[in-house]
Amino acid sequence: MLDDLYREIILDHYRSPMNRGRVEHPDIHAEGKNPLCGDELIITASLEDESILEIKFDGHGCSISQASASMLTEQVKGRRLTEAEDLVELIKSMFKGEVEIDPDELGDLEALQGIRRYPVRIKCATLAWNALQVGIDTHRSSLEDAEAAPELAVFTEHSI
Ligand code: ZN
Repeated sequence: MLDDLYREIILDHYRSPMNRGRVEHPDIHAEGKNPLCGDELIITASLEDESILEIKFDGHGCSISQASASMLTEQVKGRRLTEAEDLVELIKSMFKGEVEIDPDELGDLEALQGIRRYPVRIKCATLAWNALQVGIDTHRSSLEDAEAAPELAVFTEHSI
């Protein structure tokens, strides 16, 4: 299937995930579901001055969905929300074949590039990124209504 190097990086993240678990009192709380494969992710993050202080993921599913979530937490931790959103856009453009990932800058994310050749798995790989984006959007709209309780953002993949 995937090139050996890519497969190894993905399995590494799957077996020894980064930032697995849940952040207490999260500012961002998003759930992603990909019924096509049975992947489910919960992403929680705490913020400080619109930067991601802590971020964790929880859930279950195939190795690609879990590895991609692990890579996401590793990459966006410490970044500003706007930077995290730029990265979400970059990943989506990469899957559309519009850009290449620079391994010097984004390390393990390069391994996701190998999944481009397997369209049926792309939704597994983008689930965490789409869920994070929906979580950020929900966080922003809750800022406009300070009285509102923190909301759970839900993202579900649909078949085309
Ligand atoms: Zn999957």
